[in-house]
Order: sequence, then C-alpha cells, then structure tokens
Amino acid sequence: MLYDKKIQAFRTETINDAILTIARLAGDLYKIKKGVSISKNATPLPAVWTGLEPATSAVTGRHSNQLNYQTVFVVLSAKKLQKREINNIFVKLFLIPMPVAAFHKTRLAPTPSGYLHLGNVFSFALTAALAESHHADILLRIDDMDRERMLPAYLQDIFDTLQFLDIPYDQGPQHASDFEHSYSQRHRLKHYEAALQTLREKGLVYACSCSRTQILQSAVPGTYPGTCRHKHIPLDTPGVAWRLYTDASQKIRVKKQDGSQEEVALPADVQNIVVRKKDGFPAYQLCSVVDDVLFGIDMIVRGQDLWHSSIVQLYLAQALEKASFLEARFLHHPLLLDPSSRKLSKSAGDTSVHYMRQQGLTAQAIYQRLGEAIATPHTVKRWQDLAYFVV
Ligand SMILES: [Zn+2]
Repeated sequence: MLYDKKIQAFRTETINDAILTIARLAGDLYKIKKGVSISKNATPLPAVWTGLEPATSAVTGRHSNQLNYQTVFVVLSAKKLQKREINNIFVKLFLIPMPVAAFHKTRLAPTPSGYLHLGNVFSFALTAALAESHHADILLRIDDMDRERMLPAYLQDIFDTLQFLDIPYDQGPQHASDFEHSYSQRHRLKHYEAALQTLREKGLVYACSCSRTQILQSAVPGTYPGTCRHKHIPLDTPGVAWRLYTDASQKIRVKKQDGSQEEVALPADVQNIVVRKKDGFPAYQLCSVVDDVLFGIDMIVRGQDLWHSSIVQLYLAQALEKASFLEARFLHHPLLLDPSSRKLSKSAGDTSVHYMRQQGLTAQAIYQRLGEAIATPHTVKRWQDLAYFVV
C-alpha cells in the first residue's frame, strides 16, 4: 500500500448517525456502494449494513471505480439489532488518504430567460468533464431572481436539455415543480437579506437614486460614474438602489482551475455595482456569491465574458468575509461565436438546443456540432469527449 493508514474510531447510537459521522469525516457528499447516496439531509439505510454480523463495507466517492480519491473502509460491529435499527454501533474508520482532490463541488448555473444554446452546452459539457476528472459533485443551480424575464418554457428547457444531452448532476431540482417548490432563489431570500444587512452594517453600501437614462448618459457607457457615492441618501428611501462602495486600489486574488493565481484590480465596469435593486430585491452578483457559499461550491466554470463578474464576486465575498468563496477555483472558457463573430445570445435561434431538436438532431449530432464550433481536432460525440480540455 502506497498510502499511510489512519484509523479513527467512534461510537454512535444509530447507523444513521454512523453514516452521518462518516460523511462528516470523509467529506461532503458521498455515495455508498450500490449507489446509495448519503448527505447531511437524506440518509437512506444501506441494506448491506443491516446484518447482525460485523460487516465490512466500503464508502467511496461517486466514482468508486477510480482510485485517486480518498477511500474510507468501515468496520461495523452491531451489539444489538432491533428490526431495522441497530443500537450502539462501533465504527472503525480506516482513512486511506489519497491525493487530495483540488475541489469537491461545481455547478451548472443556467438562467431561465431564453432557450439554452450551444454555448451553454459547451459550458455544461466542460463542467461535467471537469467534475468527472476530479471526482467532484455537480449542483444544478437555476438563477431565477430576475422573474420578469423568466418563462416556464425556458425553465422546462433546462431540464429537457440536460436530460437529452445526458449531462449529470448530483444535487438540485429534478424537474420544474421541484425547482419552484424547493430550489427557487425566492426560498433563499433571508440569506441574501442577511448579506445585504452585513454590507449595510459595515458601511459598505450607499443609496443611488439615478434613473436608467441618467446612467446610460454617463461619460463611459456601461459604467456608473459614482454620482450618488457622496450624496448620503438614506438607504431606506423608497425606490433607491444600493450600490457597493468599491475601492479600485484593492487587489483581488483569483484562483484558477490549475491552482495558479492571479492578482487583479476591480475593472471599471464592475465598480459601484448594485447589490440591491430599486425594487428591494437582491441583485444577481450578491445572490450568486451567497448561493455558492451556501451550497459549498469550490469550482466555478463560466465563459470568459464573465471574467469581470468573477472578480467583483470575489470582491463581494471579501466584503462579506466568505472565506470559502475566496478559495474557490475558476475556469473561464472561450466563448462560442456566431458567424459574424459575436458571442451567442439566448435569442440566437438556430444554435438553441430546442431548435436543433426540432430539426431532428440527436444528442450525438449536437455534440458533433459543438465540436465543430470549438474547432477541435478531437471527435466530440458526448460530453466526456471534452475531457482533454480540462485536464
Ligand atoms: Zn446614482
């Protein structure tokens, strides 16, 4: 054996507690042999552990067939068995440290404001390939704070597309009503509001009463000139947005997928960003950071167009003292362009998966089209074929 053995022993009252303790010791979300998942919330009782005799089971990560992951062997001895409940279980854990994974959970974060297109497929496929090669879990996080642009058909399209293209995820909504019921960002409002309160208490936000037109007429299009920065408008004034007092001299450290780091300053277009909109709802960047922290995301895959967005999110995480987010790694991938070299938009009809499916394209044909779009010499017939891209 190449690895040092560490043994930890502990006592628990029930097998569920044992599993939870193992989950806590071993990491976040694991799957037991036979594909039974364990997490802090849901803990099915694995049949393999319910015998009277001391049982030996293996708990491994999602990718139990791959070796470079921490593997945990468990020996159970049950003193007393009452039907399906085992009391006073003695659990010995043999932790066999393998090279530590660089990250544990990434996410797919589509917005239901248009049909998903080939650019989204590229992002999803890379995320899935990256997660696979690092044995990480995938969360499906659908950003719906912008309810006005959301259509039920677009929400449904997310589930249809992921299923059609066989893109896996381990956590998140299974279908549209599951999403509305349990995963909509509306259910996490109190977390966003707590973050806004923190910013307020730290004196990091100011009220802005500028109209959209006034901002559009600013000296540099697309930037906010800080008009209200020193006006001291009360934050509770109806109809004002809250903006972040940003410090352009502050350096932000961005961790890359390969572990390298880059120190950057906050770009002009994301200075003074809105963290609370005029309607009182939290703004996108804030929700995104809070969500990633809540769900334990430590790897973020997104297009190069969101590079500035990543920087300001790290800036926000610093302000909110969300240390875990500051350690997250980022992969910014190139964007797919349309024939006139513009980035694909959600209205780019003929690159939407919805349209391609209507034209009778199979999943494999859509992946092949993706391969052509990124001009790879590799054959692309499924998302796994993008593994070369993320190694
Ligand atoms: Zn203003």
